[in-house]
Amino acid sequence: MLYGAHVSSAGGISKAIDRAEELRCQAVQVFTQSPRMWKPTAHTEEQTERFRARRADAGIESVVCHALYLVNLASPDREIHAKSVAAMRATLETAAAIDADGVVFHVGSHLGAGLEEGLALVVPALRGLLELTNDRLWLVLENSAGAGGTIGRSVEELATIVDRLDRHPRLGVCLDSCHWWVSGVHVTDRVALDSAVGELDERIGLDRLRCLHVNDAEVGLGSNRDRHTTLGKGTIGKGMATFLGHPAFQGLPAILETPDADGSYADELRLLRRLHKKGLAAA
Ligand SMILES: [Zn+2]
Ligand SMILES: [Zn+2]
Repeated sequence: MLYGAHVSSAGGISKAIDRAEELRCQAVQVFTQSPRMWKPTAHTEEQTERFRARRADAGIESVVCHALYLVNLASPDREIHAKSVAAMRATLETAAAIDADGVVFHVGSHLGAGLEEGLALVVPALRGLLELTNDRLWLVLENSAGAGGTIGRSVEELATIVDRLDRHPRLGVCLDSCHWWVSGVHVTDRVALDSAVGELDERIGLDRLRCLHVNDAEVGLGSNRDRHTTLGKGTIGKGMATFLGHPAFQGLPAILETPDADGSYADELRLLRRLHKKGLAAA
């Protein structure tokens, strides 16, 4: 497992590597621009070059970029849909410039229009965006917490997207422990987890699983609310060991996306390692 965290790229995108190195991460996730603004950040060549060079020095094995929170490829609002596609393009372009391994994104919400109406917008948009991927860079769908009309709340919904894109070779999946838990998957119970992973393998294929987001949840199993909390402090708690120790997840980047309020990532990464070892021993 490649331990990692979502780190800030304030002060230039290559600074993210400095921060990840300080935390002794083997994987890192970054935003390529402010996640709450449509306006893309223009990265200088000096920064993207330094990112690649520093990544090699720091021995960071996996780099993923997270798309903006504003992105909603399923939005029935034409302007939002168009802005979302443009933002995804910009993210993929920066990701390619820094030699990232993936762009992780939330599919979005159909906002009540219905799953089929949403997919009718999402699928063609993704078909175009997949053209910006390359041998290294994948497009990675994240499972959703299942709030409102969000798409990707189940393995079945993610599988539908993969199928409709003719099982494109560079379309992957990122599993967020918090989102899986709040969408009703009992990730702390080995039998339930085995069954969910089995469905993932059968419907999507474990070879498409590219990344894990390791977040505890502030809210309960099946609550469908996307509220991350510090590792060990939420409703998943020490049960995270079961998730981390699952044989299907070994070797993947495992990225913390918890609120790093007072720079607690160093402590959390220690806990992540401990829970992983405990999970492996029990698996
Ligand atoms: Zn996530
Ligand atoms: Zn989330």
